[in-house]
Amino acid sequence: MTATTPTRAANGSRPRALVTGGAGFIGSHLCERLLAEGKDVIAMDNLLTGDLANIEHLFGSPHFTFVHQDVTNYIHVPGRLDYILHFASPASPVDYLELPIQTLKVGAMGTHKALGLAREKKARLLLASTSEVYGDPLVHPQREDYWGNVNPIGPRGVYDEAKRFAEAITMAYQRAHGVETRIVRIFNTYGPRMRLNDGRVLPSFMSQALRGEPLTVFGDGSQTRSFCYVDDLVEGVLRLLYSDEKLPVNIGNPREMTILQFAEAVLHSTGSKSGIEYRPLPVDDPKVRQPDIGKARRLLGWEPKVVLEEGLRRTTEYFRRKVAQGR
Ligand code: UDP
Repeated sequence: MTATTPTRAANGSRPRALVTGGAGFIGSHLCERLLAEGKDVIAMDNLLTGDLANIEHLFGSPHFTFVHQDVTNYIHVPGRLDYILHFASPASPVDYLELPIQTLKVGAMGTHKALGLAREKKARLLLASTSEVYGDPLVHPQREDYWGNVNPIGPRGVYDEAKRFAEAITMAYQRAHGVETRIVRIFNTYGPRMRLNDGRVLPSFMSQALRGEPLTVFGDGSQTRSFCYVDDLVEGVLRLLYSDEKLPVNIGNPREMTILQFAEAVLHSTGSKSGIEYRPLPVDDPKVRQPDIGKARRLLGWEPKVVLEEGLRRTTEYFRRKVAQGR
């Protein structure tokens, strides 16, 4: 089953959706799906961590527009707007360590601007939040009613607290101004169009495996993550967008594994003979992470479909091309 979607706006024309961060990894997949559903799509991105290569195949569509703009400063969209999917943000630990102020600003001011636009246009806004709001969790697996264990002044605080503020201001606009909002808490997601050098575990392991270099496992590799294939994630996000649920919903794959097991899965998928090299664990790196997706199952009838082995196979194909092109 795919997400049911209104294909016509009330006045009979195609619904219009704005995707901030539309040239990013998840944003570009969303643009593609929204176009396939019959929407007019505006992708907005300042290309700080996004890449036009992710959306250049959409430029031929008369229903697709790209706007090069930083949503932190202002967002101007002429005409009607039905949906705003706010996905603009650096989203890998390496990116937000290198771009701490931009990360805080887009999460705080960018979300404020997006909400102001939603209010003005009477559009429904979906905020891309994150499992990072749970920090280094003391409750496992993480359910939406867990408030988290976050260090506000640590290096990851710029992302965690920006997203916590983004959730707070989204709820405030919902309560104070009656803006229609949705909040998705995204857990580790992987797939084609991740940036080769974004420092996240999958692109790092993929490029190392495909180049025959050792895989850099941080710490002893016993920390856990749960990896969701991007198509599953997009399906969950859109089901939430079209649902009536106003409170945050986790979307992720509950299959949990250690980073060492993940390294082995990447070696297997790529057929690489690379070894493992241990590196120091980054500050405040969560020891465990696994979504409780009971709420998404119950309210959205959603659960992931793509098993890790299949997702890694598709992702390996993409990274093989990227590594061959040297980018
Ligand atoms: N990690 C690793 N080697 C790398 C990159 C990351 O072992 O080259 C680990 C990292 O310490 C973390 C996990 O993989 O425990 C996931 O890291 P990622 O940066 O993808 O995102 P996070 O889940 O920490 O936000």
